[in-house]
Amino acid sequence: MVGPGTRVSIEPGRPDFTCPQCLAGRYNLCPRMEFYATPPIDGALAEYVVVHEAFAHPVPDSLDDDRAALLEPLSVGVWAARKGRVGPGSRVLVNGAGPIGLVATQVAAAAGAAQVVVADVNPYRLEVAARLGATATVDVSQSSLDGLDPDLLLECSGHPEATRGAIEALAPAGRAVLVGSGSADLALSLGSLQRREIELTATFRYANTWPTAIGLAASGRIDLDALVTGHYGLADTEAALTAPARDETAIKSVIRPGE
Ligand SMILES: [Zn+2]
Repeated sequence: MVGPGTRVSIEPGRPDFTCPQCLAGRYNLCPRMEFYATPPIDGALAEYVVVHEAFAHPVPDSLDDDRAALLEPLSVGVWAARKGRVGPGSRVLVNGAGPIGLVATQVAAAAGAAQVVVADVNPYRLEVAARLGATATVDVSQSSLDGLDPDLLLECSGHPEATRGAIEALAPAGRAVLVGSGSADLALSLGSLQRREIELTATFRYANTWPTAIGLAASGRIDLDALVTGHYGLADTEAALTAPARDETAIKSVIRPGE
């Protein structure tokens, strides 16, 4: 029960709770979802927003406000790992070391993956990935993904050419989960997918991930603080959102509306 004064982390959307997708537990696929910051719905960068009680998850005191806010990107990583069925011994390739790639890396490691290789072209982000549990990193501007033979790809780059290369790097019978923005067209060799019996799937937001994300973060197995590279007040929202474009060491900005 959420009462006045309870610290909560919110799921930033309002599904209708009644359609077949919602009733099946896949409320992320609800056709009537109103999701913050998805036009025409305004974002949640405001002092007050309205959320359904079920989407206001109480957080333990061990999770400060930064970490509570970062349960949202962590949820993207949890959902990707679930879709990819990461488990003990998995050989995972995380393509893209942005905020989502970095949480996916940590979730895969926490789920028992034997190998979590992170690929990017940003040396700083690869360093962070190594600190956060990557077993190896690959700067794809310098070297190839040959020989890794991952059985799971968590594609977090959103870059069409990089996505194609990472799918080609999968071992036979491998699975690719498209997590990054899927707005671009991507030409894939269906013969190559077929010969290797590659499974290709995608994620859209998340469903039922907050309890898992809270548990992982509270257990200390996920380091969310490492992602925070700047704090901003509500008036400096634009600077917060554009920080990664200006500074290649910027990962995630936290906006504190009260400051
Ligand atoms: Zn629905």
